[in-house]
Amino acid sequence: MSSSDVTSLVWLRDDLRLDDNPALSEAAALGLPLTVVYILDEESEGVRALGGAARWWLHHSLAALSGSLEAKGSRLLLRRGPAADTIRELASETGAGYFFWNRRYGLPERTVDAAVKAWAADNGLEASSYQANLLFEPWTVRTGAGGPYKVFTPFWRTCLAGHEVRDPLEPPRSLPSPAAPKGRLPQGDDLDSWQLLPASPDWSGGLADTWEPGEDGALHRLEDFLAGPAEDYGTGRNIPGAEGTSRLSPHLRFGEMSPFRVWREIRRRFSHKMPADVGIFRSELGWREFCWHLLYANPHLATRNYRAEFDRFEWQSLGKEELQAWQQGRTGYPLVDAGMRQLWQTGWMHNRVRMAAASFLVKNLLADWRIGEEWFWDTLVDADAASNPANWQWVAGSGADASPYYRIFNPVTQSRKFDAAGAYLREFVPELASLDAKAIHEPWKAGVPEYPAPLVELPESRERALEAYQRLKDSQAG
Ligand code: FAD
Repeated sequence: MSSSDVTSLVWLRDDLRLDDNPALSEAAALGLPLTVVYILDEESEGVRALGGAARWWLHHSLAALSGSLEAKGSRLLLRRGPAADTIRELASETGAGYFFWNRRYGLPERTVDAAVKAWAADNGLEASSYQANLLFEPWTVRTGAGGPYKVFTPFWRTCLAGHEVRDPLEPPRSLPSPAAPKGRLPQGDDLDSWQLLPASPDWSGGLADTWEPGEDGALHRLEDFLAGPAEDYGTGRNIPGAEGTSRLSPHLRFGEMSPFRVWREIRRRFSHKMPADVGIFRSELGWREFCWHLLYANPHLATRNYRAEFDRFEWQSLGKEELQAWQQGRTGYPLVDAGMRQLWQTGWMHNRVRMAAASFLVKNLLADWRIGEEWFWDTLVDADAASNPANWQWVAGSGADASPYYRIFNPVTQSRKFDAAGAYLREFVPELASLDAKAIHEPWKAGVPEYPAPLVELPESRERALEAYQRLKDSQAG
């Protein structure tokens, strides 16, 4: 092959966007015929297969991205298989000599990327990677002693003090035409053949009603949020019945929205003076960064207790019926049930309710947090390899900077406080809709035949959890 036949290749992964996509922009600037590929990799060692809701999202996100690439003169090639092998095959099919991607931070993914980089170097090819999905890459934020952070507040303080957040890149105006050696485009898979969408039964109706996957949908969410709820975020974020949060999480998860873009738009809109509530929102983005910081330092966060002493905690094995009652929103506690049904219907759950529903599972039912983490992994559209386990471990008390074990969310107190009129409960637990604002939080007192009795008593199950924790502490002391 003559050097004039050399082409380039962009490998998109969790960065399904044209805006602020350094890998894509750099490849576009090079000007060589360009292959843009997404690889569905369910085979590389340790890569966690996507859950059902995330697969639904991925399908629609890829469809949207494909349309955007075509509008710029390119196209999206779809391939399936172990990623490193697939890249090597594509290199020989397209004559690619330059490879571009944005970095990932999970161990299995880093291992694959490192293997591709080493192969490229061995073969005289050039592979370049970029920072795109985290504002602060994990290895750049270190404690005074040079290690990773274990506590959020100093982590975030160091992030903000030590690093400038770069401006986002504008999307490329146009893209080089696809690499087509000898006039032939490489063959790709048909998106439908991946069967990412649920069929028989198709449970995705509520997801489709709620979300607009893809870059346009992400931008709409950001604009709506900054134009309204952002300035009252400190209060609004606690009210599950209100649209008080950004709902950007799945867009950030799939990289349809760059955190650099969010940062920039905040600065632009509030250039005169940043409201305190917007600062709180920014620190929530910081929690996302912190979770990745934790995962980078603890690659097995989804399967191993961050605090090893929890290996001896006496989790109880749940009966199938109890587990299903939690999963399906039939625990008899309206806030937990509303949350679990919101999750099932829409693929998302409000953060305050996530904490209450998770606490109920790991504390009132004493189930191992990994059971809940897996269910969320399968059902959340924003299921994230770092944020999901980190938050489950936070609730369980086994994690970094975790909520103390003795903090047990009381779902009745929580719903009285944050859903006082019962609007959220009524929306997701319609059997309770006729109860007034006082009765709806404790429906067993009113007696609603269609609604289940409480699965466990709150005071007793709380005591049981505290005793189990005390035994763990005693065993450490002894
Ligand atoms: P906003 O309040 O608008 O926050 C803006 C962004 O900040 C979010 O989109 C998200 O990217 C980030 N963020 C906010 N809170 C957190 C947090 N506690 N940890 C990490 N990032 C945060 N979030 C996920 O993105 N994926 C998950 O798989 C996930 N699993 C969770 C499991 C449990 C048990 C709990 C308690 C929380 C979990 N979260 C997870 C965190 C949080 O609930 C969601 O990020 C948030 O509800 C998303 O809604 P939003 O985009 O409107 O958030």
